[in-house]
Amino acid sequence: MSGESLVGRTALEHLDALAKGELSARELVQAYLERIERFDGHVQAFLLVDADGAVKKAAEVDERRARGEPLGPLAGVPVAVKDVLCTEGQRTTCASRILENFIPPYDATVVRKLKEADAVLIGKTNMDEFAMGSSTENSAFQVTRNPWDLTRAPGGSSGGSAAAVAACFAPLAIGSDTGGSIRQPAALCGVVGLKPTYGRVSRYGLVAFASSLDQIGPFAFDVRDTALLLKVIAGHDPLDSTSVARSVPDYLACVEEPLEGLKVGVVREWLSEGVDPEVATAVRDAVAVYEKLGADVCDISLPHSKYGIPAYYIVAPAEASSNLARYDGVHYGYRAARYEDMIDMYCRTRAEGFGAEVKRRIMLGTYALSAGYYDAYYLKALKVRRVIREDFDRAFEQVDVIIGPTSPTPAFRLGERLADPLSMYLSDIYTVTANLAGIAGISLPCGFTQDGLPIGLQILAPPFEEERLLRAARMYERETEWHRRRADLQQAVAAVSKAG
Ligand code: GLN
Repeated sequence: MSGESLVGRTALEHLDALAKGELSARELVQAYLERIERFDGHVQAFLLVDADGAVKKAAEVDERRARGEPLGPLAGVPVAVKDVLCTEGQRTTCASRILENFIPPYDATVVRKLKEADAVLIGKTNMDEFAMGSSTENSAFQVTRNPWDLTRAPGGSSGGSAAAVAACFAPLAIGSDTGGSIRQPAALCGVVGLKPTYGRVSRYGLVAFASSLDQIGPFAFDVRDTALLLKVIAGHDPLDSTSVARSVPDYLACVEEPLEGLKVGVVREWLSEGVDPEVATAVRDAVAVYEKLGADVCDISLPHSKYGIPAYYIVAPAEASSNLARYDGVHYGYRAARYEDMIDMYCRTRAEGFGAEVKRRIMLGTYALSAGYYDAYYLKALKVRRVIREDFDRAFEQVDVIIGPTSPTPAFRLGERLADPLSMYLSDIYTVTANLAGIAGISLPCGFTQDGLPIGLQILAPPFEEERLLRAARMYERETEWHRRRADLQQAVAAVSKAG
């Protein structure tokens, strides 16, 4: 089998071929490394490619298989990990200068679980600095490009992970989602991305952005692979006190079972104003698929969701301003080369080490938390958060899942929103509410624009109902072919060189 025909398949297809002895884990990882070598100069999805480590792990999997030893559920499958998760002995930067040389002495729990599942960790992916952004342009190191159109953004902040899957650099990837950072880039890159319920996946070893909102989750080409990866990373962890001690269902085993009498709620407010007409049409077509499948579809209202963005942009920066206080030039990473005294050292380190968006968030957050403004901003935002959760609670009394668009627009052009932070923040309009409420959400491909850009469908489910979420998503996916399309990188590269 040639390398080019291997990449672009799903993890489950790879696992099947590996189990049957049709190929070795080494051949598989080699095919992906060649693909990365050939195209990542154009996409720039990775901050670090661990070719040696990946080949070594693949060889170990092959040897253990030859000896008949038991292997983990991801044995030999390459996985890309967002550079916000600590990897022992391997640079973890959060795409920030301030962590440029930070080498963690331990693995994040999710990384440890991937290793225990015998996954092949192929590299660390680019992101917006400290996961603050919606385009991956806030990385201190490089701009990741959308594999479907290299002049456009992959979304963010987990743009490197979404682009890595879309570019067929790995069949699976890990991201983090604080306000949409898994679902929005999944939508813009035409792949599946899932934000688990707050507490479903351990955040130990995830560099904190906004601790009451952050969750880690999977990227894949389809719902079945997403179910497989979620099962590996989910579960209680004594090292993260916010992770919840509930058993983890075998998501993959049940994902093909359709939900009888499924009640689907379509968010009225999300299909009216401000949504791109092609996105709205694709979502309405998806609703029609559920109707055809016999689901009971109705309109629902989330009246307070319009306050999601303002509430999120108080709560998230407030928590970030506190979390980022630890980067002082003493504990981690970067320290200014020249300074006069200790205070000056702190100031210069942070002035030189953080990018513009991170500084903006620290200032917003510090302001919102300061005496005199705390009640007016932070406390008010917490109250709004509460009513947003109550909107969902009420909706889920009527329906089993909620659907709508993931992002109001398809992939936008690089640079287009950089000068106007508010237009960038509005990318998250349909995603932040799930984080504020702590519920589960998924984005999956539901169509393409006339220009060939992917469109994402968002499905939301109540807390800890990832099984329902995946089964509902799979019902749709089985009826459609969108998840089988792959970006043509050769053509994408030719298109930019012609234009340039
Ligand atoms: N785009 C949002 C922000 O900039 C969400 C980021 C995220 O989910 N990490 O905060």
